Parts: sequence; C-alpha cells; structure tokens
Amino acid sequence: TSFEQSNLPENVLQCCQNFKKPSPIQSHAWPFLLNGRDFIGIAATGSGKTIAFGVPALMHILNKKKQSKKAVPRCLVLSPTRELAQQISDVLSEAGSACGVKTVCLYGGTSKGPQISALKSGVDVVIGTPGRMKDLIEMGVCSLKEVSFVVLDEADRMLDLGFEPEVRAILSQTCSVRQMVMFSATWPLAVHQLAQEFMDPNPVKV
Ligand code: AMP
Repeated sequence: TSFEQSNLPENVLQCCQNFKKPSPIQSHAWPFLLNGRDFIGIAATGSGKTIAFGVPALMHILNKKKQSKKAVPRCLVLSPTRELAQQISDVLSEAGSACGVKTVCLYGGTSKGPQISALKSGVDVVIGTPGRMKDLIEMGVCSLKEVSFVVLDEADRMLDLGFEPEVRAILSQTCSVRQMVMFSATWPLAVHQLAQEFMDPNPVKV
C-alpha cells in the first residue's frame, strides 16, 4: 500500500516519484510479479497498469544480468496499436533510463531502418505491435530467444484486431521458461484459451 513497503530500489521507483502511493493494480500485481508468478489483470486503461508491469519488468532485467556484452531483449511487451505501444514505450524508456535499462519501440506504418539500428545498438526491453514485430523476427533482426518476461497488453483488443496468428508466432519464439503477464479489459473465450496455452496452469488473476 506504500512505495516504501514495496522494498524496491530507488532508481526503479523513480518513475513513481510524482505519485503518492501505488495504484490498486500496482499493489496487487507487484508482489506476485516480483515473485515470478504469471499474472492476469482485468483492468482498463487509466488504472496504472503500465507501471504495474513495468516496474517488475525492470526488476526482472536488473536481477538477471546477462553474460554477453550486447544487450539482447529479455522483456517483450506486445500492444495492439501503435499509439498504445508508443505510450508504453515513453513510460518504460523514462523509467528504464533511471536504472540503465534500454528500450526500443517497434511498430508499423514507418520505415524499418531506424528500428533495426536501435535493435542492433542493444536493447533490454522491446515494445511493439504484432505485425511489425513478426516482420522483424522473420528478417532475423529481432531475436526473442532470451526473452523471459512477456507482457500482452490489451489482449482482448489484440485478438479483436485479428493478431492472434502473429501473437502465437511471436510467443513461440520466446524462452520456454518465461514469466507472463496479460492485461485485458474483458475475458472472452479466445483470450482465455491463449492464457491456457501460453501461461502457467495457475496464473494469479486479479
Ligand atoms: P496507465 O493505466 O498505465 O495508462 O496509467 C494511467 C495514468 O495513471 C498515467 O497517466 C500514469 O502516469 C498514472 N499513474 C500510474 N501510476 C500511478 C499512481 N501510483 N498514482 C497516481 N497516478 C498513477
């Protein structure tokens, strides 16, 4: 119920410096996510869900310093739209800059060149829309094989927009041992099935 109680390092909590206390979704999600559990949040936008998954994503990266020098992504956030991807990216790149975590945002409707350069320069967190993400994976410029923390944001909308094949293809490229977070405003059968297939048998659902 307070930021102090969360025992999180100061640099990770820098993104919360203007907030009085964690939002309900944050205080529900953090203990489970910091413990490595899979998590389903039925939450609308405006609930503070970006930081609810963003802070544990940063901790996942900081706790798991990798061997190779070049940063390959270890966290993936999938978003249904470019606008949402950019919003998430703005929050996470600012939060990440306080603790040395690099982010890149991948979306369609714009040239691939700058996104490819950003990937090549090394990145810890990729945020993206399913179509462009799948393109870049197929081109061999975005490897998800070290991704062990995955977020599906607005999962219901992602499936409504017809991205299910891309989402499945992308998820199957990530580490088989991974932590997964799903946020959805509604809980239709297709979303339920996706969770059953790709998440732990007993995810926390809030
Ligand atoms: P989101 O649901 O992630 O799109 O966040 C919605 C808005 O809530 C954003 O403008 C955040 O800056 C803000 N927000 C996130 N966490 C908190 C918090 N603990 N207290 C107050 N506002 C917050």
